[in-house]
Amino acid sequence: MKYSELCEVYEKLSATTKRLEKTDILAEFLKKLKSKGQSKHIYLLRGKVLPDYDPKELGISGKLVIKAISRASGNSTEKIIKEFNKIGDLGDVAEIVLEKKKQSTLFSKKLTIEKVFDNLTKILTIEGKGSVDKKLALVSELLTSTTGTEAKYITRTILGILRVGVADSTLRDAIAVAFYPEEKKEVAEKIERVYDLANDFALVFDAAIKGKEAINKIQIHPGKPIHTMLPVKVTELDEAFRICGEECAIEHKYDGFRVLINKNDGEIKLFTRRLDDVTAQFPDVVKVVMKNVKGQNFILDSEVVGFDPETKKQKPFEFISQRIKRKYHINKLVKKLPVEINVFDIIYYNNKSLISEEFRKRRKLLEEVVHPNKLKIRISKQIITGNKETALKFYKKALSIGEEGIMIKKLNAPYKPGRRVGYIVKLKPQERDLDLVIIGAEYGTGKRAGGLTSYIVACKNEDEYLEIGKVASGLKEKEEQGITYSAMTKMLKPLIISEKGNRVKVGPKVVVSVTYQNIQKSPTYSSGFALRFPRITAVREDKPLSELNTLKEVKKEFDGQ
Ligand code: ATP
Repeated sequence: MKYSELCEVYEKLSATTKRLEKTDILAEFLKKLKSKGQSKHIYLLRGKVLPDYDPKELGISGKLVIKAISRASGNSTEKIIKEFNKIGDLGDVAEIVLEKKKQSTLFSKKLTIEKVFDNLTKILTIEGKGSVDKKLALVSELLTSTTGTEAKYITRTILGILRVGVADSTLRDAIAVAFYPEEKKEVAEKIERVYDLANDFALVFDAAIKGKEAINKIQIHPGKPIHTMLPVKVTELDEAFRICGEECAIEHKYDGFRVLINKNDGEIKLFTRRLDDVTAQFPDVVKVVMKNVKGQNFILDSEVVGFDPETKKQKPFEFISQRIKRKYHINKLVKKLPVEINVFDIIYYNNKSLISEEFRKRRKLLEEVVHPNKLKIRISKQIITGNKETALKFYKKALSIGEEGIMIKKLNAPYKPGRRVGYIVKLKPQERDLDLVIIGAEYGTGKRAGGLTSYIVACKNEDEYLEIGKVASGLKEKEEQGITYSAMTKMLKPLIISEKGNRVKVGPKVVVSVTYQNIQKSPTYSSGFALRFPRITAVREDKPLSELNTLKEVKKEFDGQ
C-alpha cells in the first residue's frame, strides 16, 4: 500500500475530534490492511512500529532529523534551523521544504508503507559505533522520496509526536466496527479485555480477522508484560467498604515501585507498570525469587521497596527510581540501595492463568508458593475485616510505621489488567499531588546556564497533552539529595523538538509527580488551569503516559477545593 494512503488517514483523523468519526476512518483503513495481510502496519496508526509491550525506542533526536531534512531537501542545516525557529514544529518544516523540493524535481517513485515500516524497524536494531550516521541515512532515504505531507508524518512519527488523536480505545473500537459491525459493542468489549492481556494491536487485529474464537483464545503468558490492575482513590474508609464490599482484605500501601515478576522456562523477567523490562537492573530480585518462590512458571504482582542498608529503614520512591534506569555498575547500586520485595498477588501459576479466580483464592495460593525471607521477600501484610474500627487501627498503624497508606481489596474479585475498576481502592492522607508529563522547558541562567531548569508540565485529555503550569522547584543540586537539574537536563535534551529563545518544546516522555498548593483557573495554559506553588517530588520512571492525571481529574480537584 502507498504511504500516501496512510497519510490521507492521518489527515482525516487530525481534522476531527469526534471519536465516532475517528473510529469509522480507522475501520475503513483496517479493512484495507486486512486485504494486504500486513497486520504489523497497524502500529503506524499510533506512530509506532512495535507493540505497546515493547518499549524499544527509535532514539532519534531533533538534531538528527534536522540533518536528514537538510540532506533530503538540499538546504543547509542553518536554513532548516532558521525555519524551525520561525515555525516551531519540525514536521511542518519538513512538509514545507520537501514539498518545495518535490515541485522543483521530477521524482516519480512512490513511497510505500512497507518501506517506511522497514526503515523505521531497521533503525531500532542499529547500535554502537557509527549508529548515528546509519540512522541518518535511513531517515534521509525516506525523506528523499516524499511529498510534503508524507515528510510531515514521517518526521512526526520519528520524533514520537504523531498527534493524530488515536487513543487505544478508539483503535480497539475500530477493529470491532471494521469486522463485526452487527455486534460491535459486544466484540469491542471482548477486544478491550484481551488487549489488556496482549498489549499488541497486530496480534489482536489478526485474531479479530480470524474470528471471535481466536479473540477469546488470547491469554497472558509469563515472560510477556501486561498492564497491572490499578486502584481507585478514596478519601475515607466508608467509601472503601462501599466499593469493595462488607468484608475486605486490607493491606499496607508500600512506597516503592510496581514490578510484575515473571518466571518462564526457568528464566525470571521483571517488568514495570510501564511494561519496561528491568530484569538486568535487579539481579538481586531475580536471585531472591529463584530461591524463595516455588513453581515452574508464574506471574507475581509486587511492590519493590528500597531500604537503607545500615538502618534498614525504608527509603522513599525517588531513591529507588535511580535503580530503574541504571545501565552500568549495577552491582554497586545493588549494595548501596538494596530492596525488599512485597508480593501481593499471583495471576499465573504452573501453566494456568488465574485472572478469573477470586482474589481470596489467589492470595491463598500466594501464601503457599512464596517463602518469606527477612528484608528480601515477604507477602504483603494483610487483614480481612468488615469492622471499621479494626480497619482504622490498621490504617493508623501503617502510617505510624511510615507506610503511605492502605489498599482495600475486594475478596471475590478477579484480576483486571490495566483497569481502575474498583476491585482495589487506596486510602492515604490527603495531599495535593498530580502525575504530569514535561512537554517544555527553559534554560537557566548564571550558575545553571546551559541546563534546563524550569519545566512546562501537562495533564492528559484523551491523547493530547494540555499544559497546566511551569515548575521550577523540587530539583536538587547534588545527586545524594534526589533528582538533580543536570540529570533532568540529560533526560530532556534528546527529546527537544523545537527551540525558541531560551525555551524548548520536548516530546512527552518524562513523567513527574508534582505537589502544589492549589489549582487556579488560568488562560495562560492550554488546560485552562494552573498549579500554584508547584514542586516536583519525583520522576516517575515507572509510570506510563496512559496513567497521567487527566483534565477531568484536574477539574474534579479544582471543584473539590
Ligand atoms: P500514589 O501517587 O498514591 O503514590 P501511585 O502513583 O504509585 O500512587 P496508584 O495507581 O495511585 O499509583 O497506586 C497504586 C500503586 O500502589 C500500585 O501500582 C502499587 O505500585 C502500589 N502498591 C503498594 N502497596 C500495594 C499493595 N499492597 N497492593 C497493591 N498495590 C500496592
